[in-house]
Amino acid sequence: MKRILVTGGAGFIGSHVAELFIKQGHAVAVLDNLSSGKRENIPQDAEFYHVDITDKEGLQKVFAEFKPQVLNHHAAQISVNRSVREPHFDAEQNILGTINLLEASARHGVERFIFASTGGALYGDAPTIPSSEDTPVVPLAPYGIAKASAEHYIRFFSAEHGMDAVVLRYANVYGPRQDPHGEAGVVAIFSLKALADEECVIYGTGKQTRDFVYVKDVARASLLALEGKPGTYNVGTGTETSINGLFAEFAALNDSLKVSHHDARAGEVFRSVLNAGRANANLGWQAQISLSDGIGETYQWFKSQGS
Ligand code: NAD
Repeated sequence: MKRILVTGGAGFIGSHVAELFIKQGHAVAVLDNLSSGKRENIPQDAEFYHVDITDKEGLQKVFAEFKPQVLNHHAAQISVNRSVREPHFDAEQNILGTINLLEASARHGVERFIFASTGGALYGDAPTIPSSEDTPVVPLAPYGIAKASAEHYIRFFSAEHGMDAVVLRYANVYGPRQDPHGEAGVVAIFSLKALADEECVIYGTGKQTRDFVYVKDVARASLLALEGKPGTYNVGTGTETSINGLFAEFAALNDSLKVSHHDARAGEVFRSVLNAGRANANLGWQAQISLSDGIGETYQWFKSQGS
């Protein structure tokens, strides 16, 4: 049993991670400023600290009181678009906020730091598909620049303070509780459109591809990262799904669903899919939930919310 502090645990992915940790018998506290997260996402058995990661004093109190052995860091400014408009804000949250947590972790003897990073935003239009962790990191927007920078700080603190570090580079995560405006919001958006019988919009040809990984698979990566070999790992399915292919999954759930194509969005990566072989070899992780099953569960969840 570990004492685990989950930052961003009121959000989409962090709440699933916190839930799984609790289910496995760990003691969990959630730290979140509720900027996009919701109170109702926080598992009942988790302690909750309504604190911002940019508030160094607030963090000291949390670390002194909860005494985490593991830091699972999911809190972030997650909008790539906002990072382009407000790079200073993005860096404050995603770089300085991470440094604050690293400093507090080092001071309070945290044994392991697990970080939610990103594959797609780091590799951009990668030369090799599916992309391994050795793919050159060429972030196209401040969001990816900040995630890359945070990874470097984590490796530095790990070497300097003997703290284990696990960096999980996620593909496009989808599932229940996702905000339709998130990074991989397309699954949430299509779910709402399919339920409301409204037209889905695809930007460009729809032949652009993504690696859609189900949030419960992603949460399992954090669980395996508690004991697994420290390192940097891609967390994706290795399967390339076009947006047209994704739409077909929803059309199978609602056969009167319509689609229209709008102009492609500037700067959009065309193909993005991750090779998670290293996570399989070192953590024993691989995606287990098929796209159809994951979309079915997500669709049912949005339906149950009365969406
Ligand atoms: P989310 O917005 O649902 O979760 C982020 C949580 O962090 C929210 O609960 C929010 O209230 C909290 N938060 C934001 N700023 C904070 C601050 N300054 N202090 C304290 N709490 C703060 O987003 P998500 O999709 O669950 O993303 C979780 C993590 O996974 C992020 O680090 C994100 O960059 C990363 N990630 C997500 C995806 C994806 O496909 N969703 C892909 C790659 C990486």
